[in-house]
Parts: sequence; structure tokens; C-alpha cells
Amino acid sequence: MSDYKRRTDPRTGKRFLAHRAIAEWHLGRPLEPDEIVHHVNEDKGDDHPLNLQMLPSARVHALLHWYLRREAQGVQHLWPLEVWLEVLSVKRLET
Ligand SMILES: [Zn+2]
Repeated sequence: MSDYKRRTDPRTGKRFLAHRAIAEWHLGRPLEPDEIVHHVNEDKGDDHPLNLQMLPSARVHALLHWYLRREAQGVQHLWPLEVWLEVLSVKRLET
């Protein structure tokens, strides 16, 4: 299954995903249902804000993982990841 950290809201007893809650806190707004929070170092248990990236959709998320997978296979991409993410308006959750 998933290695995501889950927490329980003591007021409601409801379970939630820690990385999404941290991203919401940093963004200062609730995440849209389509928005995905990606773990930069691919460690789903590492919820440090600098390790989280908010992506606009599952489609962008899939593309990002495709890029990283191809890079790990030795493929030289035309543009570095930073440029590519800038084009897609993806930002890290820095303050
Ligand atoms: Zn991801």
C-alpha cells in the first residue's frame, strides 16, 4: 500500500494525509481535489516542506515521474527539470 504518514484530527477523529495537510498550511488554502503533492526525494515519509511540491494534476505528476524515470535510465533530456517545471508552473512550497 502507501508509505504516506497519516494523522488523526483529535477534534473530529478523522484521518488525514500529513503531506497534504502540510502543503495546505504552507499554501494558506485548502488543496483542490485535483492537486497532487509530490515528494521531491521520492520518500513518501519525508514531509519536510522543502521536500514537497504542489502539482496541478495527476497528469503533471505522471509526467514528472516519467521524466525522473527516464533520467534514471540515462536519458539526456532536452531541458533540465527546473526549466521544465517552470514551464508547467510548478513551485516548491518555500515561504
Ligand atoms: Zn510523486
